[in-house]
Amino acid sequence: LPKSVKEPIFAAFNVCDVERVKKAISNPNLITMVQCAPAVRVAIAEEFGYDLGYLTPGKMAAALRKLNFDKVYDTNFAADLTIMEEGSELIKRVTEGGKLPMFTSCCPAWVKFLEENYPKLTDHLSSCKSPQQMEGAMIKTYGAQINNIDASKIYSVSIMPCTCKKFECDREEMNSSGYKDVDVVLTTRELGYLIKDMKIDFSNLKEEKFDSPLGTYSGAGTIFGVTGGVMEAAIRTGYELITKESIPNVEVVQVRGEDGFRQSIIKVGKLNLRVGVVSGLKNVIPLLEKLNCKELELDFIEVMTCPVGCVSGGGQPKLLLEEYKKTAYENRIKATYAHDSNLEIRKSHENPDIQKIYDEFLGEPLGEKSHHLLHTKYAITKEVVK
Ligand code: SF4
Repeated sequence: LPKSVKEPIFAAFNVCDVERVKKAISNPNLITMVQCAPAVRVAIAEEFGYDLGYLTPGKMAAALRKLNFDKVYDTNFAADLTIMEEGSELIKRVTEGGKLPMFTSCCPAWVKFLEENYPKLTDHLSSCKSPQQMEGAMIKTYGAQINNIDASKIYSVSIMPCTCKKFECDREEMNSSGYKDVDVVLTTRELGYLIKDMKIDFSNLKEEKFDSPLGTYSGAGTIFGVTGGVMEAAIRTGYELITKESIPNVEVVQVRGEDGFRQSIIKVGKLNLRVGVVSGLKNVIPLLEKLNCKELELDFIEVMTCPVGCVSGGGQPKLLLEEYKKTAYENRIKATYAHDSNLEIRKSHENPDIQKIYDEFLGEPLGEKSHHLLHTKYAITKEVVK
């Protein structure tokens, strides 16, 4: 870009990031690998005139391949990986003692909010990186190994419903592969723009599959896109890891819904797990205040900054009319749950490629390698704690 063009930082539409991706996919010396967040597949088609909330993982994968990405992977795989790590962390904290309630750490806007406003509570955050950053770290380590390529040649792109993910990938902690784990983030809108700009006929694309193993996912991975999804996915796996029995109902409806704060008690064997789900940052402050003065006691809390989770993220297709917004959110949520119920595998620990990555590469959840590549301690805390 010419020097005179001032680069927008953290903007909802960042043309510089689109140009970076265009350069990378046309550079024969780079191996480009892309990942897509769960919420993108229920919104990208809106950019091409489809109904609000139309589900198109297959067309999205095909469009990314047409764009010349060498590997089309999926953040949903890393959502399953997050559950293996975060579920194990929760079990450890509950059974062996550790800071409770444990907060989810998938949403970088929430993490930053906590660091800046409630720094004393940051040790309640799960040490897990977000699925975007876990996938980035896996792409440049395991991905390099299985594709037999030099990690320094990999350019890792992620497609997110979120503008804050651009901030997250630039954090100094997000380099555990030895390189920047995610080189650049495009929002759903920016991907829509890029597909049009490259003259790809999205509507006539035939459905394609994501590349395995870093693109194989369960229904639990895909529900990360809606509020309550991380909690439900964690309960599906946590229940079976603790009790060694099948969960009676894979659909944990108690944690679903659109209210800004929901709480319930989930029976997991002999354990009564007290869980809370918060969406929309305005609903977080009263909750934190209650926790601070011990008015409320919970074991595990999922927090998402956007109104109904990532399907309503700031990087999703723009909906200016309030009535469209409501329908879009409802339809994207419905499509996400429909996608989950139509998948054969609906629990993260049953994803065969998750089992394989632990066998071949990571060892075990919370093990040494996982700890190094998939967990973090947020260094920015030093700067913001006064
Ligand atoms: Fe981003 Fe919103 Fe999802 Fe948080 S809830 S990760 S801010 S899209």
